[in-house]
Amino acid sequence: MKTTTRVAVIGGGVVGCSVLYHLTKLGWSDVMLIERSELTSGSTWHAAGGFHTLNGDTNMAALQGYTIRLYRELEAITGMSCGLHHVGGITLADNKDRFDMLVAERAKHRYMGLETEIVGPEEIAGMAPIVNLDGIVGGLYDPLDGHLDPSGTTHAYAKAARMGGATIETHCKVIETNQRTDGTWDVVTEKGTIHAEHIVNAGGLWAREVGAMAGIYFPLHPMEHQYLVTDDVPEIYNLGREHPHVMDPAGESYLRQEGRGLCIGFYEKPCRPWAVDGTPWDFGHELLPDDFDKIEDSIAFAYKRFPVLERAGVKSVIHGPFTFAPDGNPLVGPVPGVRNYWSACGVMAGFSQGGGVGLTLAQWMIEGEAERDLTGLDVGRFGKWITPGYTRPKVIENYQTRFSIAYPNEEKPAARPHRTTPMYDIFDSMGAVWGQQFGLEVVNYFAQGDEPRYETPSFRRSNAFAATAREVMGVREGVGINEIQNFGNFSVKGPNARLWLQRIMAGRIPKPGRLSLTPMLSPKGRLWGDFTISCLTENDYQLTASYGAQEIHHRWFQMNPMDGVKVENISDRRTGFQIAGPKARDVLQACTRADVGAMKFLDVQRMVVGQADCIVQRVSYTGDLGYEIYCDAMDQRSLWHVLWNAGQPHGMIPFGMRAMMSLRLDRFFGSWLREFSPDYTAAETGLDRFIDWKRNDFVGYGPAAAERDTPPARQLVTFVVDAGDADVTAYEPVFIGGEVVGFCTSGGYSHHLGQSVAYALIPREAVREGLEAEIELLGERRKARRVTESGFDPEGVRLRG
Ligand SMILES: Cc1cc2nc3c(=O)[nH]c(=O)nc-3n(C[C@H](O)[C@H](O)[C@H](O)COP(=O)(O)OP(=O)(O)OC[C@H]3O[C@@H](n4cnc5c(N)ncnc54)[C@H](O)[C@@H]3O)c2cc1C
Repeated sequence: MKTTTRVAVIGGGVVGCSVLYHLTKLGWSDVMLIERSELTSGSTWHAAGGFHTLNGDTNMAALQGYTIRLYRELEAITGMSCGLHHVGGITLADNKDRFDMLVAERAKHRYMGLETEIVGPEEIAGMAPIVNLDGIVGGLYDPLDGHLDPSGTTHAYAKAARMGGATIETHCKVIETNQRTDGTWDVVTEKGTIHAEHIVNAGGLWAREVGAMAGIYFPLHPMEHQYLVTDDVPEIYNLGREHPHVMDPAGESYLRQEGRGLCIGFYEKPCRPWAVDGTPWDFGHELLPDDFDKIEDSIAFAYKRFPVLERAGVKSVIHGPFTFAPDGNPLVGPVPGVRNYWSACGVMAGFSQGGGVGLTLAQWMIEGEAERDLTGLDVGRFGKWITPGYTRPKVIENYQTRFSIAYPNEEKPAARPHRTTPMYDIFDSMGAVWGQQFGLEVVNYFAQGDEPRYETPSFRRSNAFAATAREVMGVREGVGINEIQNFGNFSVKGPNARLWLQRIMAGRIPKPGRLSLTPMLSPKGRLWGDFTISCLTENDYQLTASYGAQEIHHRWFQMNPMDGVKVENISDRRTGFQIAGPKARDVLQACTRADVGAMKFLDVQRMVVGQADCIVQRVSYTGDLGYEIYCDAMDQRSLWHVLWNAGQPHGMIPFGMRAMMSLRLDRFFGSWLREFSPDYTAAETGLDRFIDWKRNDFVGYGPAAAERDTPPARQLVTFVVDAGDADVTAYEPVFIGGEVVGFCTSGGYSHHLGQSVAYALIPREAVREGLEAEIELLGERRKARRVTESGFDPEGVRLRG
């Protein structure tokens, strides 16, 4: 057996084999896969082999599209068959909301180059004659959908990898992974020890156990899953062609042809987590006992939707486990805080996603970053706060809603509240309607009187509309207060702090007492963060950015250390409030002996507010006169009472994230993972105006400078949309002259200006004064007019005055 390797991939399921193949494809041949038994010995062998592109996460959908197109390439390279059946698939909608979702997905696919189409009941009847169309409004047809042979496909990946120089060692269980001081790994197996520069955990059903060998908790959990194969069905074998796949979200089922019969699987509500305390090492090529009880209701529903099933006998039952992460997306990438340890696990749809996961991980390992934003699947999207006790109920929730409608404003309830700030009970008693970010409860808005304490999930304007309007007007006309816990917050200290910041951040590093906004770029010049840097003293800085990206940002900081600098994630230690609106200055002045009036826009100052030692910044994401007031988490309640009491004479109101996201629209402010994400560059999104071109020593300088000299092909612009009862959320296509030329990054309703606003990336050459375009909103093309000047405080009198 080989005893040294650049990469040791642990696990020979479809995901491990795909990673191995992609590493060789991208140029690393000294790579090795270690499998405890035979290839496919985990979830892979008993998969139903279905694949499809539909995914609410646009980048995941793109990776699924890549995976599906890859199979022909694999067949061509290896001469092996993947057993492909490209029969197409229809996702059914039996109500308006489900249909809205499909129409919205179809719209996204327009610029993604996916050839899906909306089909009506008649077309469905023609394509999929066994569907009972009672109550069906329509469906989404995807010609790429199909199924394959799971084992053949996994072996094709393996053969292609071997052809690229990879080694595969089967019947070789990894029993320990020990890190050396230089960051490399000793992978101890039953057959001896392998010295590897990198480890990839592709342990699938055993990923938790493999992770534990290195002291890492991977937030995933196996769930039992069952599908049935029927005897021959005359309506199928007499059809003269293969029946397409049918996904029925109402019945949480998927159905396809299998030989002369059918195969149907369920995501049943009374589902069961499997191997709660760990996957047994002796679990192999066996199935779980049949369990018709838990799918009884699902079967009854399926009989109504597909009446032929009732007459078909059951030939076989496949009941096996596979893993989910809490949000259903894979866990991919470098494990935060553990050098040279990579994750490729939690892949619940290996045959839709495995290729994309392999490509992404290989790019990340070899080129330092992947070609698209991976936040949705980044293993760093969960923090250290995550535990099996949180993961399990979330995974159950995810399984139960696998095919359900995913609304843009939806807040899923399982395992909540989990993390709360000291303000939780105070805000709750004030009518807070809660959302969750990175495990933390944040206020979306405050319900008043008999308004329900629940926001109706919808693609259209929700019942939060009136409350959001009330909070927006409260800020613009008086003063509002909200919590600023949901910022990622870092302390950067030491004699080389400025030097380090100059290397990591592309923007100007402020002088003591000032703050600046800056993009953080990847080596390839893409956006890896939009930060506020506050210089407290020459050797002491506060960085704030997205709360949800804190672990990902911290990982990047740890990968780029410098002597004489200490970088700490203090997101949950430093908290506070934002007060904003024309009366904000008066409120703050009433709470401190410091001279608030002397603070200029973008000043930062330590001051005692009430009893609390605070860092006060004159800046506000609302675009209004405003202050961010940071304090120690232990002081937060006392600070609240002081600010709240001082605010009462000025009519202070609390506001939540819905109002904040509306207020930002008034000044065209972008937001992380919407306008600003690793999918885009600073020049595309206008953040290049913050780059400090006097320096050329920051990460990403080269590509950024190239774009300064030759501007990129697309540009972020703002539109006012002639909307109806729905506003832009993200990825809606933009038409100019009848052609799809771009897409929206985000949008919403500006309650202050009374208009629907959309941000979009469109070709630079199309950008002009008074540009008229159309944006597709839930199937309707709405007129949109480009705007360049904010209707609120265009001179910045409130903001800077
Ligand atoms: C009933 C059922 C139906 C399904 N249908 C579909 C479908 O239609 N379409 C779809 O896309 N997906 C489907 N899936 C899900 C799919 O099976 C998984 O997404 C996929 O198999 C995950 O692959 P993996 O490589 O991550 O994990 P696994 O297949 O679990 O592979 C992990 C491998 O790692 C090895 N390993 C673990 N620990 C060690 C160790 N210590 N040393 C060495 N080797 C180790 C294991 O032996 C195993 O071979 C289905 C799953 C089930 C249960």
